[in-house]
Amino acid sequence: MQVIRLHALSDNYIFLLHDIQQNIAAVVDPAEAEPVLEQLDQLSAELVAIFNTHHHYDHVGANLRLMQKFPEVKVYGGAEDRGRIPGQQVFLRQGDRIQFADRIGEVIFVPGHTRAHIAYYFPPEKPGEVGELFCGDTLFAGGCGRLFEGTPQQMVDSLSKLAALPDNTRVWCAHEYTLKNLQFALTVDQDNTELQNRYLQVQASRQRGEATVPSILGVEKQTNPFLRYSQPALQVVTKSQNPVQTFARLRGMKDRF
Ligand code: ZN
Ligand code: FE
Repeated sequence: MQVIRLHALSDNYIFLLHDIQQNIAAVVDPAEAEPVLEQLDQLSAELVAIFNTHHHYDHVGANLRLMQKFPEVKVYGGAEDRGRIPGQQVFLRQGDRIQFADRIGEVIFVPGHTRAHIAYYFPPEKPGEVGELFCGDTLFAGGCGRLFEGTPQQMVDSLSKLAALPDNTRVWCAHEYTLKNLQFALTVDQDNTELQNRYLQVQASRQRGEATVPSILGVEKQTNPFLRYSQPALQVVTKSQNPVQTFARLRGMKDRF
Protein backbone atom coordinates (compact mmCIF):
# COMPACT_ATOMS: atom_id res chain seq x y z
CA MET A 1 0.00 0.00 0.00
CA GLN A 2 1.44 3.26 -1.16
CA VAL A 3 0.28 6.52 0.47
CA ILE A 4 0.13 9.54 -1.81
CA ARG A 5 -0.27 12.96 -0.23
CA LEU A 6 -2.51 15.42 -2.10
CA HIS A 7 -2.95 19.12 -1.34
CA ALA A 8 -6.42 20.63 -0.97
CA LEU A 9 -7.95 23.96 0.07
CA SER A 10 -5.40 26.23 1.77
CA ASP A 11 -3.64 23.80 4.10
CA ASN A 12 -5.47 20.44 3.98
CA TYR A 13 -3.98 17.13 3.00
CA ILE A 14 -5.93 14.29 1.41
CA PHE A 15 -4.25 10.89 1.53
CA LEU A 16 -4.73 8.50 -1.32
CA LEU A 17 -3.97 4.85 -0.60
CA HIS A 18 -3.01 2.90 -3.67
CA ASP A 19 -2.74 -0.85 -4.01
CA ILE A 20 -0.57 -1.56 -7.01
CA GLN A 21 -1.49 -5.26 -7.48
CA GLN A 22 -5.24 -4.70 -7.70
CA ASN A 23 -4.91 -1.11 -8.93
CA ILE A 24 -7.49 0.13 -6.48
CA ALA A 25 -7.44 3.23 -4.32
CA ALA A 26 -8.97 4.68 -1.17
CA VAL A 27 -8.93 8.26 0.08
CA VAL A 28 -8.78 9.61 3.59
CA ASP A 29 -10.69 12.87 4.19
CA PRO A 30 -11.34 14.13 0.66
CA ALA A 31 -11.80 17.87 1.08
CA GLU A 32 -11.95 18.43 -2.68
CA ALA A 33 -12.65 16.13 -5.62
CA GLU A 34 -10.28 17.56 -8.27
CA PRO A 35 -6.94 16.51 -6.79
CA VAL A 36 -8.32 13.03 -6.08
CA LEU A 37 -9.79 12.57 -9.58
CA GLU A 38 -6.57 13.82 -11.18
CA GLN A 39 -4.46 11.38 -9.21
CA LEU A 40 -6.83 8.47 -9.90
CA ASP A 41 -6.69 9.35 -13.57
CA GLN A 42 -2.89 9.32 -13.55
CA LEU A 43 -2.90 5.90 -11.88
CA SER A 44 -5.92 4.66 -13.85
CA ALA A 45 -7.04 3.28 -10.50
CA GLU A 46 -10.55 2.67 -9.26
CA LEU A 47 -11.69 4.33 -6.03
CA VAL A 48 -13.18 1.72 -3.69
CA ALA A 49 -13.29 3.47 -0.30
CA ILE A 50 -13.57 6.85 1.36
CA PHE A 51 -12.34 6.88 4.94
CA ASN A 52 -13.60 9.95 6.81
CA THR A 53 -12.20 10.86 10.22
CA HIS A 54 -14.91 13.39 11.13
CA HIS A 55 -17.72 15.43 9.66
CA HIS A 56 -16.06 18.82 9.08
CA TYR A 57 -16.47 20.06 5.49
CA ASP A 58 -12.72 20.18 4.88
CA HIS A 59 -12.68 16.39 5.43
CA VAL A 60 -15.87 15.25 3.67
CA GLY A 61 -16.41 17.99 1.05
CA ALA A 62 -15.84 15.71 -1.94
CA ASN A 63 -17.73 12.62 -0.74
CA LEU A 64 -20.79 13.10 -2.95
CA ARG A 65 -18.85 14.00 -6.09
CA LEU A 66 -16.59 11.01 -5.70
CA MET A 67 -19.66 8.80 -5.18
CA GLN A 68 -21.10 10.10 -8.45
CA LYS A 69 -17.91 9.19 -10.32
CA PHE A 70 -17.50 5.84 -8.52
CA PRO A 71 -20.98 4.50 -7.65
CA GLU A 72 -19.45 1.39 -6.03
CA VAL A 73 -17.34 3.33 -3.54
CA LYS A 74 -17.97 2.66 0.16
CA VAL A 75 -18.05 5.62 2.54
CA TYR A 76 -16.77 5.04 6.07
CA GLY A 77 -16.98 7.24 9.16
CA GLY A 78 -17.54 7.18 12.89
CA ALA A 79 -20.78 5.69 14.25
CA GLU A 80 -21.42 8.88 16.23
CA ASP A 81 -21.22 10.92 13.02
CA ARG A 82 -24.42 9.32 11.67
CA GLY A 83 -26.31 12.02 9.76
CA ARG A 84 -23.35 14.38 9.52
CA ILE A 85 -21.11 12.73 6.89
CA PRO A 86 -22.52 12.97 3.34
CA GLY A 87 -23.09 9.52 1.83
CA GLN A 88 -21.86 7.60 4.87
CA GLN A 89 -22.60 3.86 4.62
CA VAL A 90 -20.35 2.29 7.24
CA PHE A 91 -20.59 3.36 10.89
CA LEU A 92 -17.42 2.53 12.81
CA ARG A 93 -16.64 2.12 16.49
CA GLN A 94 -13.50 1.64 18.57
CA GLY A 95 -11.78 -1.61 17.65
CA ASP A 96 -13.67 -2.20 14.39
CA ARG A 97 -11.59 -3.55 11.51
CA ILE A 98 -11.55 -2.16 8.00
CA GLN A 99 -9.96 -3.63 4.94
CA PHE A 100 -8.25 -2.04 1.97
CA ALA A 101 -6.76 -4.49 -0.55
CA ASP A 102 -4.71 -6.89 1.58
CA ARG A 103 -4.30 -4.51 4.53
CA ILE A 104 -6.41 -4.65 7.66
CA GLY A 105 -6.82 -1.36 9.52
CA GLU A 106 -8.07 -0.72 13.00
CA VAL A 107 -10.49 2.00 14.09
CA ILE A 108 -9.55 4.11 17.09
CA PHE A 109 -12.28 6.28 18.63
CA VAL A 110 -10.68 9.65 19.39
CA PRO A 111 -13.33 12.19 20.49
CA GLY A 112 -12.19 15.68 21.45
CA HIS A 113 -11.90 17.81 18.31
CA THR A 114 -15.41 16.58 17.57
CA ARG A 115 -17.49 14.17 19.62
CA ALA A 116 -17.42 11.52 16.87
CA HIS A 117 -13.85 11.70 15.54
CA ILE A 118 -12.14 8.42 14.63
CA ALA A 119 -8.62 7.54 13.46
CA TYR A 120 -7.52 4.71 11.16
CA TYR A 121 -4.43 2.71 11.98
CA PHE A 122 -2.78 0.22 9.63
CA PRO A 123 -0.20 -1.85 11.54
CA PRO A 124 3.09 -2.66 9.78
CA GLU A 125 2.82 -5.37 7.14
CA LYS A 126 6.01 -7.10 8.26
CA PRO A 127 8.18 -6.70 11.34
CA GLY A 128 10.55 -3.77 10.87
CA GLU A 129 8.18 -1.86 8.57
CA VAL A 130 6.19 1.20 9.60
CA GLY A 131 2.53 1.46 10.51
CA GLU A 132 0.33 4.21 9.12
CA LEU A 133 -1.91 6.38 11.30
CA PHE A 134 -4.55 8.63 9.73
CA CYS A 135 -5.63 10.84 12.58
CA GLY A 136 -7.50 13.74 10.92
CA ASP A 137 -7.59 16.76 13.25
CA THR A 138 -6.80 14.91 16.49
CA LEU A 139 -3.00 14.71 16.61
CA PHE A 140 -1.11 17.20 14.45
CA ALA A 141 2.61 17.37 13.78
CA GLY A 142 3.71 19.42 16.78
CA GLY A 143 0.17 20.04 18.01
CA CYS A 144 -3.40 18.80 18.35
CA GLY A 145 -6.85 19.77 17.15
CA ARG A 146 -8.97 22.41 18.82
CA LEU A 147 -11.66 21.20 21.19
CA PHE A 148 -14.88 22.01 19.35
CA GLU A 149 -17.18 19.34 20.76
CA GLY A 150 -15.13 17.42 23.30
CA THR A 151 -13.62 17.93 26.74
CA PRO A 152 -9.95 18.08 27.72
CA GLN A 153 -10.39 14.72 29.47
CA GLN A 154 -11.67 13.14 26.25
CA MET A 155 -8.83 14.60 24.20
CA VAL A 156 -6.22 13.43 26.72
CA ASP A 157 -7.71 9.91 26.54
CA SER A 158 -7.77 10.04 22.73
CA LEU A 159 -4.19 11.29 22.42
CA SER A 160 -3.06 8.63 24.91
CA LYS A 161 -4.51 5.93 22.67
CA LEU A 162 -2.55 7.28 19.72
CA ALA A 163 0.63 7.71 21.77
CA ALA A 164 0.42 4.01 22.71
CA LEU A 165 1.07 2.99 19.07
CA PRO A 166 4.64 2.04 18.06
CA ASP A 167 7.15 4.91 17.94
CA ASN A 168 7.97 4.38 14.27
CA THR A 169 4.33 4.86 13.17
CA ARG A 170 3.91 7.46 10.45
CA VAL A 171 1.46 10.18 11.47
CA TRP A 172 -0.63 11.39 8.53
CA CYS A 173 -2.49 14.39 9.94
CA ALA A 174 -4.89 16.42 7.83
CA HIS A 175 -3.36 19.92 7.94
CA GLU A 176 0.01 21.60 7.35
CA TYR A 177 0.11 23.41 10.70
CA THR A 178 3.51 22.17 11.84
CA LEU A 179 5.57 25.38 11.79
CA LYS A 180 3.00 27.39 13.75
CA ASN A 181 2.53 24.49 16.16
CA LEU A 182 6.25 24.30 16.87
CA GLN A 183 6.48 28.07 17.31
CA PHE A 184 3.93 27.70 20.08
CA ALA A 185 5.64 24.59 21.46
CA LEU A 186 8.88 26.54 21.88
CA THR A 187 7.10 29.08 24.09
CA VAL A 188 6.06 26.39 26.59
CA ASP A 189 8.93 23.86 26.32
CA GLN A 190 11.93 26.14 25.77
CA ASP A 191 14.71 23.88 27.02
CA ASN A 192 13.70 20.86 24.91
CA THR A 193 16.67 20.46 22.53
CA GLU A 194 14.86 17.91 20.33
CA LEU A 195 12.11 20.46 19.88
CA GLN A 196 14.60 23.20 19.03
CA ASN A 197 16.22 20.97 16.42
CA ARG A 198 12.90 19.91 14.99
CA TYR A 199 11.83 23.54 14.68
CA LEU A 200 14.93 24.37 12.64
CA GLN A 201 14.37 21.37 10.37
CA VAL A 202 10.70 22.20 9.84
CA GLN A 203 11.49 25.86 9.20
CA ALA A 204 14.01 24.84 6.51
CA SER A 205 11.55 22.36 4.94
CA ARG A 206 8.83 24.97 4.76
CA GLN A 207 11.22 27.51 3.23
CA ARG A 208 11.91 24.94 0.51
CA GLY A 209 8.15 24.50 0.10
CA GLU A 210 8.17 20.92 1.36
CA ALA A 211 5.42 19.19 3.33
CA THR A 212 6.11 18.22 6.95
CA VAL A 213 3.50 15.45 6.96
CA PRO A 214 3.83 12.57 7.69
CA SER A 215 5.71 12.90 10.93
CA ILE A 216 6.88 10.05 13.13
CA LEU A 217 5.07 9.23 16.35
CA GLY A 218 8.31 8.85 18.34
CA VAL A 219 9.28 12.39 17.34
CA GLU A 220 5.86 13.65 18.41
CA LYS A 221 6.29 12.09 21.84
CA GLN A 222 9.60 13.95 22.26
CA THR A 223 8.50 17.33 20.92
CA ASN A 224 4.71 17.77 20.89
CA PRO A 225 3.57 19.61 24.04
CA PHE A 226 0.11 18.03 23.77
CA LEU A 227 1.67 14.60 24.36
CA ARG A 228 4.01 15.95 27.04
CA TYR A 229 1.56 17.23 29.66
CA SER A 230 3.19 14.99 32.29
CA GLN A 231 6.63 16.57 31.81
CA PRO A 232 7.82 18.84 34.67
CA ALA A 233 8.62 21.74 32.29
CA LEU A 234 5.03 21.86 31.08
CA GLN A 235 3.64 21.49 34.59
CA VAL A 236 5.66 24.53 35.62
CA VAL A 237 4.43 26.62 32.67
CA THR A 238 0.79 25.68 33.31
CA LYS A 239 1.11 25.81 37.12
CA SER A 240 -0.57 22.43 37.42
CA GLN A 241 0.47 18.87 38.14
CA ASN A 242 -2.84 17.42 37.08
CA PRO A 243 -2.39 15.96 33.57
CA VAL A 244 -5.83 16.93 32.28
CA GLN A 245 -5.59 20.44 33.70
CA THR A 246 -2.07 20.83 32.30
CA PHE A 247 -3.37 19.74 28.91
CA ALA A 248 -6.41 22.04 29.12
CA ARG A 249 -4.26 25.04 30.00
CA LEU A 250 -1.82 24.30 27.17
CA ARG A 251 -4.73 24.01 24.77
CA GLY A 252 -6.12 27.33 26.04
CA MET A 253 -2.72 29.03 25.59
CA LYS A 254 -2.48 27.67 22.05
CA ASP A 255 -5.99 28.96 21.25
CA ARG A 256 -4.82 32.45 22.17
CA PHE A 257 -1.36 32.14 20.52
ZN1 ZN B 1 -11.85 19.40 11.80
FE1 FE C 1 -9.76 20.08 9.44
